[in-house]
Amino acid sequence: MHSPKRTARPVARELLFGNLWEYDAAPESSPAFIDASYGLFIGGKWVAPKTRKTFDSISPRNEEKLSEIALAGAADVDAAYQAAAKAFPAWSKLPGSERAKYLFRIARLLQDRAREFAVAETLDGGKPIKESRDFDLPMAAAHFFYHAGWADKLNYVTPGRVLEPLGVVGQVIPWNFPLLMLAWKLAPALATGNTVVIKPAETTSITALKFASILQDAGLPPGVINIVTGAGDTGAAVVNHPLAAKIAFTGSTAVGKSIQRALAGTGKRLTLELGGKAANIVFEDAPIDQAVEGIINGIFFNQGHVCCAGSRLLVQESIANQVLSKLKIRMKSLRTGDPLDKNTDVGAINSRAQLDRIHELVASGVAEGAELYQPVCELPHKGFYFPPTLFSKVSQSHRIARDEIFGPVLSILTFRTPEEAIEKANNTHYGLSAGVWTDKGSLILKMSNELKAGVVWANSYNKFDPSSPFGGYKESGFGREGGKQGLLDYAKLKATF
Ligand code: NAD
Repeated sequence: MHSPKRTARPVARELLFGNLWEYDAAPESSPAFIDASYGLFIGGKWVAPKTRKTFDSISPRNEEKLSEIALAGAADVDAAYQAAAKAFPAWSKLPGSERAKYLFRIARLLQDRAREFAVAETLDGGKPIKESRDFDLPMAAAHFFYHAGWADKLNYVTPGRVLEPLGVVGQVIPWNFPLLMLAWKLAPALATGNTVVIKPAETTSITALKFASILQDAGLPPGVINIVTGAGDTGAAVVNHPLAAKIAFTGSTAVGKSIQRALAGTGKRLTLELGGKAANIVFEDAPIDQAVEGIINGIFFNQGHVCCAGSRLLVQESIANQVLSKLKIRMKSLRTGDPLDKNTDVGAINSRAQLDRIHELVASGVAEGAELYQPVCELPHKGFYFPPTLFSKVSQSHRIARDEIFGPVLSILTFRTPEEAIEKANNTHYGLSAGVWTDKGSLILKMSNELKAGVVWANSYNKFDPSSPFGGYKESGFGREGGKQGLLDYAKLKATF
């Protein structure tokens, strides 16, 4: 029997207020306490780099210099590994209940200094203060709390086996969630009894370096966590050091592949959290206004610098015009500008290099025939900014539909049947995340079974929890962070019988 064809719901008329309700500026006034310069944090102390070199950390908000950061070379990375190896025997033999106390202290200290860290994160990375304040900081603390809970229960993660630490772990993280990625990496490594050498991204080292003072205040034994700063060469030295028992990398697929090649045959464990090109799929029976909010959050959260960003919107043909027109209206109310303003929704692009890449990909979308929409918005004159952008009339062959843009740019494609949606969603090298919006539970189950994505959100998007494992398929990487699956990636299993 044919079900009656749904008639598209009429689009409500747009309410136009002009400048009538313009907000006053609401800059965050808490101090960030950023030092004029930072050394390397090795063996529990600040040390000068043996390279005698430094690099500037600038704020994407206004291009002003924030601090001078030490550039670690191979000898510095070696010193960090030696310190971590020295700390390993005592740290790994501590009872889990003792290690848990350190994790718990770190979480509490982060909570105590949350506003200061949120301001530093926003100044250094460009994300809106409301996100660093309400998402990055609470989530970073939550990861330490969660893993504090696991540290004394490692004998119960897998029945009949105990979890034993691997040794010294090398970790390399990206710039989009600097402190949160650090928490995702450090908390499970510490809970399972490993010691660590970690390298933050070169454009966002400041919260990692400020975090060293939290480790000191928590009384963490020297050498358990060592922080080295620098760019790709420093990262390569971390990855290739012979003392590393495992490498945990989050970053681009290109670098992830090169790391996998470099580690082949070394016996080192590896987890890779790489790029994505997620499909956010909206069916005609979806709660459309909620879906529009989910689409907006999915692509404009953190300026789209999100590995799991819903950058490809797949919308059922019968409601495509309605969704497009609602999206355009909603985009007009997004406030783009100073990330330190509490009203800002879309902040600064992390670096000039990333801004250039976004410009290049957007230009390719226009050149290949997609239709561009950007709401009128006045961008600050200094700093790196890009307006929220939407492309309709996109086809699967367009670069904007295939390449990870990692910016506030949404591409809209349409589909008619669930099968077509699955085929289009899976037509990518990546497989990190997806969203499904529909009234039907059975359709949610079908889609989540058939989508090749590590995470599938249903009638929601960008929901995270430390207990929920996160990670990819295909070229989005392997291994999981969070949950008990994340713990297993930092341990070897030993039978107890
Ligand atoms: P990137 O790969 O350029 O850099 C990531 C980190 O690797 C940085 O610290 C960098 O200094 C370091 N690095 C660069 N070259 C290296 C090398 N040869 N050896 C070792 N380390 C090296 O990526 P990015 O531009 O900083 O980050 C954006 C990418 O990260 C995006 O592709 C995004 O999707 C991905 N990402 C993935 C996740 C996830 O969980 N899957 C989370 C956040 C970001």
